[in-house]
Amino acid sequence: MPVEKKSVALPKAYGPGKLELFSPVQYLKGVGPERAKALNEVGVLTVEDLLYYLPRRYLDRSRVVKIADLKVGEEVTVIGNVLDVRIVRRRSARFVVTLHDGSGYLALVWFNVPSFLPNYFERGMEVAASGVVSIYGTLQMTHPDFEIVGDPEEQKFMHTGRVIPLYPSTAGLKARRLDSRGMRRLVFDLLEKHSGLVIDFWQKPELEKLALPELSWALKHVHFPETVEDAERARGRLAFDELFALELVLLARKRNLQLRPKERVFRPPGGLVEKFYSILPFQLTAGQNQALAEIFTDILSPHPMSRLLQGDVGSGKTAVAAAAMAYAVENGSQAVLMAPTEVLVEQHYRTLSGWFSKLELPLGLLTGSTPPGEKKKLLAGLAGGEVMAAVGTHALLEPTVEFKDLGLVVVDEQHRFGVSQRGLLKRKGKESELLAMTATPIPRSLALTAYGDLDMSVIKELPAGRASIVTAYRTEEKKPEIWNFVQTELTKGRQAYVVYPVIEESEKSDLKAAKAEYENLKKIFSEFPAGLLHGRLSGKDKIKVMEGFSSGRLKLLVATSVVEVGLDVSNATLMIVEEAQRFGLAQLHQLRGRVGRGAEKSYCILISPANISATAQARLEALTKERDGFKIAELDLELRGPGEFLGLKQHGFPDLKIARLDDFELIRRARQKGEEVLFEKGEPVSRFAHLLRRWGKSVTLLETS
Ligand code: ADP
Ligand code: MG
Repeated sequence: MPVEKKSVALPKAYGPGKLELFSPVQYLKGVGPERAKALNEVGVLTVEDLLYYLPRRYLDRSRVVKIADLKVGEEVTVIGNVLDVRIVRRRSARFVVTLHDGSGYLALVWFNVPSFLPNYFERGMEVAASGVVSIYGTLQMTHPDFEIVGDPEEQKFMHTGRVIPLYPSTAGLKARRLDSRGMRRLVFDLLEKHSGLVIDFWQKPELEKLALPELSWALKHVHFPETVEDAERARGRLAFDELFALELVLLARKRNLQLRPKERVFRPPGGLVEKFYSILPFQLTAGQNQALAEIFTDILSPHPMSRLLQGDVGSGKTAVAAAAMAYAVENGSQAVLMAPTEVLVEQHYRTLSGWFSKLELPLGLLTGSTPPGEKKKLLAGLAGGEVMAAVGTHALLEPTVEFKDLGLVVVDEQHRFGVSQRGLLKRKGKESELLAMTATPIPRSLALTAYGDLDMSVIKELPAGRASIVTAYRTEEKKPEIWNFVQTELTKGRQAYVVYPVIEESEKSDLKAAKAEYENLKKIFSEFPAGLLHGRLSGKDKIKVMEGFSSGRLKLLVATSVVEVGLDVSNATLMIVEEAQRFGLAQLHQLRGRVGRGAEKSYCILISPANISATAQARLEALTKERDGFKIAELDLELRGPGEFLGLKQHGFPDLKIARLDDFELIRRARQKGEEVLFEKGEPVSRFAHLLRRWGKSVTLLETS
């Protein structure tokens, strides 16, 4: 490979033989400035980065089908040598590459010849082609996916393994001949000549206990495995390191909290909390009581609480939060509850002020639509300590919001906030206790990667006396019958939600569709007042619509997914979800949780077009049978994969490079190891400085957070 190195003056330290893991990748033999630029663009800056630039998948020769065994109509992968390359001109041009694998001949055919293709193939090259087999005189594959597996030059190593790594590529990389083939050469060379640079920071006995291979083995086999199983074992080791780095950060944050005993001392729950219990219109469930006991214990302990309260929709988390707030106030500290939408905040405000007014405890309210005069008064009250409890949206995070002594921070629907927002609010107090709440149950291992710095409480049961929710899945042709049914229910005095998806990427057209459907439904249900609720409404308008619905004036609420979180209108017994296939299962479960809140029987009807895939249908069917939020979360994770699950990235989940959120076993081991290292052995975090840097975690940040 020609490499222009002439113009580059090599710094001494990076001279030949002095290559280090941190050396810019440019100084690696076979790279040079041009290729380095293309590599930098995909995040490969150093020699070490190149080692961690992993194949996107592997081609397993043992799974490849011989040409002689091909069957028409099958989708398969074939590997063969290029025997002939030509453009055939009949009525229109076709580009044909003939492959031979010793058992037979296969024609790869392209119509409308793409310009780069003819130069791509050379006789004698080994090519892997995937596609559907057809027969036109000869066996052929039209427009197959293909990979150059090797050329005669490459044989020295490519033929030793039966598993071939395929690397992610970009136009920039390809322009520098760093397609899969080029990357293989580069990485192979690097591993061959410089694998000695890699130092494992885990000692052998540690690795044995963890049942993980050594780092140098893993790096070699993740690129050039003998078997697909080896590749997975190798990936597992690297993924473990990444997860360990993540857990270390989370656990260290937790340890830092524990190292600092707090000054504020709470007394055990007394008068105000007792009174709060007595004014509640219901008895707390065992789960609510258990959660509260855990919260009180945390708050009484010498370091600040960091607790996540998970409870399925409708399990009554608000009452738990309110009791905790009363407890903080009883001890002379302020308490604040933050929720992600104005609609939800308004609802909390109504619920909590209903309860707190009986305790003669005034409640502040702060959202984006709070009038300036009121806002000014409230801010003064919070700063001066006259206002002891408040609810609000993100508006609470503004720098002008100050507290006299903020003792408790409650964050509702906390997955809607980033970790940094959580921290921002908490830091408005000194050593504030933190209670985060979520109605989106997530599998425990996932919780450990996302919220590993939090302790966890779970409310399993729903309050007694809830009528059941019947869930049904129907295709669109059934709409007339569904609207009939809605009519019947509305006539009985019930209320209904009709929900439309509005997905960010196609927001405009989605919103248009939702509005059109609203107009349509207004006609169908002309005798029942209806409202439209969507994210683009001003805060005031949203609240007006919501109040109309919760007061019972509006009978029908057409809404986008803004109603997904938290709403509580017990007279609403119908939840109709259109285009349900576009929602995640966990999201649909949330929507369903908006009904079944009173004693009346409730219904959730999921509607999709008839032509959605069988898997998509199965997903919706599954929801009609499953009611347990945790099981649904797991199912969702399984069906959609972690990337899609809940839109994890927006919700403060870490961006993992090699590990996957469903590496449950590795997550468990990484967590355990992190606890052992930090809590049992009390090792300094600095021991893992290299590892943390490798995975983009800052050590300094850690020590001071
Ligand atoms: P979520 O956990 O989904 O936030 P909420 O706090 O909104 O649930 O509670 C759902 C409904 O259940 C509310 O109307 C609330 O008043 C009611 N509720 C809460 N706890 C109990 C209980 N122990 N018994 C009966 N109803 C309850
Ligand atoms: Mg809630």
